[in-house]
Amino acid sequence: SEHLLTIKNLHIKYDTDEGEEVRAVNGVDLTLDKGRSLGLVGETGAGKTTTALAVLKLLPKKVGSITEGQIVLDGKDITAATEEDMRLLRGNTVSMIFQDPMTSLNPVLPVGEQIMEVISLHRKDLTKEQLEKRLDEILTMVGIPPERRQDYPHQFSGGMKQRIVIAIALVCEPKLLLADEPTTALDVTIQAQVLDMMRSLRERMDTAMILITHDLGVVAENCDEVAIMYAGEIIEYGAVEDIFERENHHPYTVGLFGAIPDMTKDERRLHPIDGLMADPTDLPRGCKFAPRCPHCMPVCETEQPRFHTENGHSIRCHLFGAPGSKPAQGGNA
Ligand code: SF4
Repeated sequence: SEHLLTIKNLHIKYDTDEGEEVRAVNGVDLTLDKGRSLGLVGETGAGKTTTALAVLKLLPKKVGSITEGQIVLDGKDITAATEEDMRLLRGNTVSMIFQDPMTSLNPVLPVGEQIMEVISLHRKDLTKEQLEKRLDEILTMVGIPPERRQDYPHQFSGGMKQRIVIAIALVCEPKLLLADEPTTALDVTIQAQVLDMMRSLRERMDTAMILITHDLGVVAENCDEVAIMYAGEIIEYGAVEDIFERENHHPYTVGLFGAIPDMTKDERRLHPIDGLMADPTDLPRGCKFAPRCPHCMPVCETEQPRFHTENGHSIRCHLFGAPGSKPAQGGNA
């Protein structure tokens, strides 16, 4: 395939200590082209992070496994890639940024050395001077004075630490960046600065991105496409400009945003929805949103809805596509 990333019918399960099977991802399909960015949105437990970790082959060992489906990254099928294969791809082809910068930083190593480790792993062709030059360049690009390379992570603020993590993630100009709530822990003003910086670096390097977030405003400003996830499935998918303009949405999307937010107001956070997230050890047989859906019909409880696609926008709900169906309108569900 010509896509940078193709995920086909991905299923992932976790085994709990109690011997239960958690069905975290249940048939995810998605594609991403070079340089493009996709926002992955949904409540905690929707399967967003698990999907991203699968692309890096970083699912928790023994307990988490891909049970079905395929992941093709940059022309390679990595579904069954070994740890050795992945070590070469990580940092070079694909990188990940987590919410907490200390997940990625070593507290007892100067930040310059940590960036250097990544460059020297992937760029054996560079001389010592060239490596040093590359280190200075990337520090400058993320707004860290190069003379601070000898400093340790704790000597930096939260926003600066996340900039260092971004430097580590992007120093080898990966083709794909996975960013899991990269700015959620930061102050609002710092968030915007860090996101702007990430965007300009990505544009410069032509790096594609999957951005996991709870914030549709962040998606609007940073993504080309958006996928909404629920109970391990994508339930709505489309171009960002379209999702903010169209009237018809999946009932979950409507509930999540209390109608798609007015981007001119400071009303961008998720709305709580009545009822509990589907139990991933005991998922409903039909539509996984049925127990919480105000539009639930008898068919919803027995039949899994398929995607209905119109003008490139896809919705997985029985209200769409079937003869005589009437789509849910925006507004509080
Ligand atoms: Fe609601 Fe049925 Fe659509 Fe599921 S398929 S979201 S239960 S209307």
